[in-house]
Amino acid sequence: YRMNVTPIRTRDGENIGVVTLLQDVTKLKEVDQIKSDFVSTVSHEFRTPLTSIGMGVGLLLDETPGSINRDQKELLEVIQEDSERLKNLVSDLLDLSRIESGKIQMDMEVHHIKDMAESAVKPFHMIAKDKKIDIQINIREELSTVKADYNKISLVLTNLIGNALKYTPADGTGKIEISARETANKMLISVSDNGKGIPEDYQQKIFEKFIQVKDDNGETPGGTGLGLAISKEIIHAHGGEIWVKSQPDEGSIFYFTLNLGR
Ligand code: ADP
Repeated sequence: YRMNVTPIRTRDGENIGVVTLLQDVTKLKEVDQIKSDFVSTVSHEFRTPLTSIGMGVGLLLDETPGSINRDQKELLEVIQEDSERLKNLVSDLLDLSRIESGKIQMDMEVHHIKDMAESAVKPFHMIAKDKKIDIQINIREELSTVKADYNKISLVLTNLIGNALKYTPADGTGKIEISARETANKMLISVSDNGKGIPEDYQQKIFEKFIQVKDDNGETPGGTGLGLAISKEIIHAHGGEIWVKSQPDEGSIFYFTLNLGR
């Protein structure tokens, strides 16, 4: 049952009673379960044919020089890119439904957040250099440890850093900073950028599946719109919170909390 209690107050603010609403959510839970099983089965069944499409096209592109003309080659390249995109989408959906259903166990160990930040930044050095964006890790060596699944939190950091890079201009002024500090028995980790920022009415919604901010031409960016939804599930599974503060045209700071490792 879901319970909703609303106080009844007089105009002077005096409490004179409550309205209690009890709602049977068994059916809702069942529907949720069916939906999540469906997504997980479909994603799984999509993977094999997608892999063989990708491989087949790859072979055609590699092994038949001269036997296909330029238009055909271009078409094959479009198919290759699209099947790659679809494969990423399917794999994100599968990750998300597994985490949501609690089927993925978090492998909780004691770690230094600095190690995770460094491993998350590594794959982005080339892109950062290309886009002339400065990435800094601002985490003191002697900071406390956290209790976390190393790979999952590295993935969250990868998602946040990847987004920061994607939505920050390549004009030489771009700056991304990863910081951590201890507050009230928790570790507070942040990833900030000075990119395009996020409109106020989107700042909560972007953590839901498939929500992407449209640009001035009404276009949504590339990507699956699942990165932040996956990150939110991972952080919640750790008992933490994740949120964003952002100012359009000035930048964004994503925050999340983790439990301390001691
Ligand atoms: P994706 O990046 O694949 O679209 P995400 O779930 O990671 O999906 O992000 C959802 C949306 O939130 C993005 O499409 C973008 O509109 C917005 N967003 C996320 N991070 C940033 C950021 N650092 N700066 C500006 N917008 C962002």
